[in-house]
Amino acid sequence: MTRPGVSMWNKVFRDELGTVASDNEIVAKHPRDTAPRCGTQREVVEGMQPAKAHSAAAQLPEVPIPVLLIEDDPDIGALLRRWLDKSGFLVTLADDVPRAMELVRDGDFAMVITDVELPSGSGLNVAHVSKKVAPKRPVLLITADNDPDLPILALRHKVDDFLRKPLDRVRVVQTLLEMQRNIEVPEPPSSPRLVARKTVVAIGAHPDDVEIGVGGILAEHAAQGDEIILVAMSPGAQGGHATVRALEAEAAAERLGAELIVGDCSDTDFVESEAIRFLEGVIKEHAPDIVYTHTKNDTHQDHRCVHSATMVAARGVAEVFAYQSPSTTTDFKPTRFVDISERMSEKLTLLAAYGSQDHRPYMQKQAVEAAAQYWGRFADYTSVEPLEVMRSR
Ligand SMILES: [Zn+2]
Repeated sequence: MTRPGVSMWNKVFRDELGTVASDNEIVAKHPRDTAPRCGTQREVVEGMQPAKAHSAAAQLPEVPIPVLLIEDDPDIGALLRRWLDKSGFLVTLADDVPRAMELVRDGDFAMVITDVELPSGSGLNVAHVSKKVAPKRPVLLITADNDPDLPILALRHKVDDFLRKPLDRVRVVQTLLEMQRNIEVPEPPSSPRLVARKTVVAIGAHPDDVEIGVGGILAEHAAQGDEIILVAMSPGAQGGHATVRALEAEAAAERLGAELIVGDCSDTDFVESEAIRFLEGVIKEHAPDIVYTHTKNDTHQDHRCVHSATMVAARGVAEVFAYQSPSTTTDFKPTRFVDISERMSEKLTLLAAYGSQDHRPYMQKQAVEAAAQYWGRFADYTSVEPLEVMRSR
């Protein structure tokens, strides 16, 4: 499946205003797009060429492709439906997030198109759920929002492509046909080893916390074919550049084959009630068998907050373990010692994704190995990640 990269974002901007313009173009209606923009009448970014009018019609699908379109603007929704129905697609339109969530879970659609800003929530959440229930089903985002972080958010939610309004009929159809072609390429049958057996949620206050605490254990889960969700409650702006750290976390998650969720808690100033709500959402959506979180015996206030919030949010989870971090105190009292001797190189590979943190003493190879060897004295002198058992049924 095609994964989005910066070079493939289709970024076509026009400083035109208004509503639906014609059968071949939708211009932005979002209030933020009413501000005058500097520059030329039409700017094409990153070498993208204006869509060629001839190619879409020549590739129309023989059988209508069922598409779920999520768009709250009735004019844009109706016009997109008309364009797509005429181009070999069969469109079902949803205009709010609750209905869209129902349809992505239960509907039989080949692809999903969603606006980002919807009155009852974010289209990114719809994209996330769609990818969760049907990882191979393409998702196309459309938006009038010029937020520069949006491509990163889209990448994080694993959307397949991204179009900014104003929309162009040929561009939209070409993009959908391209996505359809990508899913028609057969993938090799999956190995039984890769069938998910358990769902594991590993929660850290900041990017790199879970890799430091349970990177080896997570690598073992990955080897067992378990589904892994990494949660960084905050992008960690106090310890580096938030965007860089989020991208590093994405790279580590990819190396692990894990899903990454990055929250927006304020680094060093977590609010427990907000953390609980956020984690309750994660737990409800993923229904994990095992949760890893910070120990409460930690000098960092965010780590302690995440521990407390996890214990509330994961109250229904069968197994909950607390891991150590570089700021853990001597009150940390592990009783489970997991041999990661065979996974140490993978743990180091995960930590190496955090280039912005490689100056920190605890990120050094020798320090990581020495910590694992220290705890190994409780487990036949192997290399160990220690855990406090919070709950194990
Ligand atoms: Zn941390």
